[in-house]
Amino acid sequence: MREADLTFEKNDKGADGNASAPSSLDERFSAVRSNAFDDIYFAGDGIHETRHVFIHGSDLPARFLSKRRFTIGELGFGTGLNLLEAWRAFDEAGTEPGARLTFISFEKFPLSRADLERVHGIWSEHAERSAILRDRLPENAPGFHDIQLAPSVSLLLYLGDVVDGLSRLDAFVDAWFLDGFSPAKNSDMWSASVFDLLAERSNKRATISTFTVAGAVRRGLSQAGFEVEKRPGFGRKRDRLWGQRSDLSKTPRDTRRPPWFQPPGPKPRDVSPKVAIIGAGVAGAAAAHALIAAGCNCTVFDPRGPAAGASGNIGGLIMPRLDLGDTPQARFFTQSYVHALRVIGLLPGAHEFFNRCGVFLRLDDAKADALISDPPLPANQIERREGGLFFKDAGVIDPQKYVQALLGDTQIFKTHINHIDTNDTGSVSLNTDDKPPIHFDAVIVANSVGALRLHAGGYLPISGVAGQIDAFLEAHAPASATAAGPYFAPAPGGGVLVGATYDKIDLEKACNGDVETSPAATSENINAVAALAPAFAQSLSSERAMSRASVRCQTPDRLPIVGPAPDPEFYQASYEGLKHGVKASYPPAEYQNGAWLLTGLGSRGLVTAPLCGALVAAQILGAPFDAPSPVDQTVADALHPGRFIFRELKRAQNKKSLYRSESLSD
Ligand code: SAM
Repeated sequence: MREADLTFEKNDKGADGNASAPSSLDERFSAVRSNAFDDIYFAGDGIHETRHVFIHGSDLPARFLSKRRFTIGELGFGTGLNLLEAWRAFDEAGTEPGARLTFISFEKFPLSRADLERVHGIWSEHAERSAILRDRLPENAPGFHDIQLAPSVSLLLYLGDVVDGLSRLDAFVDAWFLDGFSPAKNSDMWSASVFDLLAERSNKRATISTFTVAGAVRRGLSQAGFEVEKRPGFGRKRDRLWGQRSDLSKTPRDTRRPPWFQPPGPKPRDVSPKVAIIGAGVAGAAAAHALIAAGCNCTVFDPRGPAAGASGNIGGLIMPRLDLGDTPQARFFTQSYVHALRVIGLLPGAHEFFNRCGVFLRLDDAKADALISDPPLPANQIERREGGLFFKDAGVIDPQKYVQALLGDTQIFKTHINHIDTNDTGSVSLNTDDKPPIHFDAVIVANSVGALRLHAGGYLPISGVAGQIDAFLEAHAPASATAAGPYFAPAPGGGVLVGATYDKIDLEKACNGDVETSPAATSENINAVAALAPAFAQSLSSERAMSRASVRCQTPDRLPIVGPAPDPEFYQASYEGLKHGVKASYPPAEYQNGAWLLTGLGSRGLVTAPLCGALVAAQILGAPFDAPSPVDQTVADALHPGRFIFRELKRAQNKKSLYRSESLSD
């Protein structure tokens, strides 16, 4: 991505005519200008204009008190000043415990670290907040970044063009800040398509605030469905613009999604839901981590305790999976990696269980060249080396400590849940052999292949794959990891880690976790290293191996299953027409109330779990209506549990080749 090119202007009163004294002599400047757009980010200290136009201009202090989960959408992240001011206003609003603010913003030309630091230096009252922000801002990887800033404040930042970002946004906004340079200098931020997208992604009673009253902006917003009016401007500017969705009472509709992926409807909750999580592996732990961060109460059930399955391995790689092309799948895997690094970095004691040793991925030259020519990761994180790509921030994690750190203080019961009852009242009951049912608002089934036993329906095409890894504790550890499918890496406790074998096993065995280590699998692992680094493999002796075998849960499309548990009978009956290619107005999907799935993480669970956990947590809180989804809409749909039923129905249609003239999109 291209970084912003700035000029720090000195000795010049800004547009407000009101330049305030900068807090540090070294930082003395009175306006920050974009050279590309020839327009200013702010003048003076910027703070008073932000408050006037956006914070008080959108009546935020009062509105924060009237809505438990409030979402701001800003066009043009720039220096982050509007975020810092919204965050401060939220902190000072006196909201009830449990209130949450999500600030969504879009930025195509992010400021460099050095420029951000220089700009932030003038806002001494934001010193603490801006330091947290800089620390957690992503390197410039395109796409969405879900960043927790404080227990009750998070930032969802889209790096890329505003139209792409708004088209993919899976959220509904309460207050829009339009701050994309002046319309005369940057028409892209004020186009009819932008205005239509704002209207489409607006919540009930959503407002618009901006500093400009340009006629084209007023007309464009009105045409898109906002009622706008001029209000007193800041400083030398006579007016600013305020607007509101014309149809105040209209409940937002998710018009982008096909019916079979429609989320359960908006249901405002007065209190945060009480959530049960079945499974204390990395999937369940990541969901618990995200739910607790969102202020929910959750309880984990696992008869074998934390990290007993594949998440209990001796070590595992945290590395990206990079796909060519800008597909939902590619975006999911890249975002997962960037998100996992951020989440891991913030876990207590992370440096003790995550070794950022770097991972070298062996690739054929054509693929390595193609990936590096349009890198999905920032240039300083992906390096072309002979025979592949090197990821310097990737590394080896100790999965047990990782799972423990994600779980934090979450209550865990070693109870076997053998049956889940859902009902129309929106509560779920968990049944055990010997105790009365336990009631929750929601349950997340996150127990790998065990989901098949708990979640009747038979539509999940998951399979079990047995894998063995071996640690050679006395062997000399390599400085970094090497992967090519199989991998060898420095083991968390010293020595060398090698993995993993891959054997499809029958489901009965998989559900029982019925896998054993074998010398043959150890030899297979050593042979795989020999193919990658023959000399190195000679230091590995099969007699000295410490082996562990476990079951991974895999899906046919290699994407996890994350989302509401479909009512399969409803799907079959209501979407029967898909089999015959009938183009009709199908009803929105129905679900098993309160039941959510988080499984099928395959061999990449250590990397994908944090993002999948964040997604299911957001969905339980009402995403996209009552809480923003951390991933783009096409990604959420690609992970939707109902996709398999939909595909089956479509496959039946293709087989019959009936009514081929009418097409339906996935
Ligand atoms: N709200 C910002 C703040 O608090 O500092 C100031 C925003 S500045 C006036 C406008 C921003 O919009 C710039 O950072 C610019 O890079 C960004 N921008 C311009 N065109 C864009 C586009 N097409 N898509 C996304 N961002 C864009």
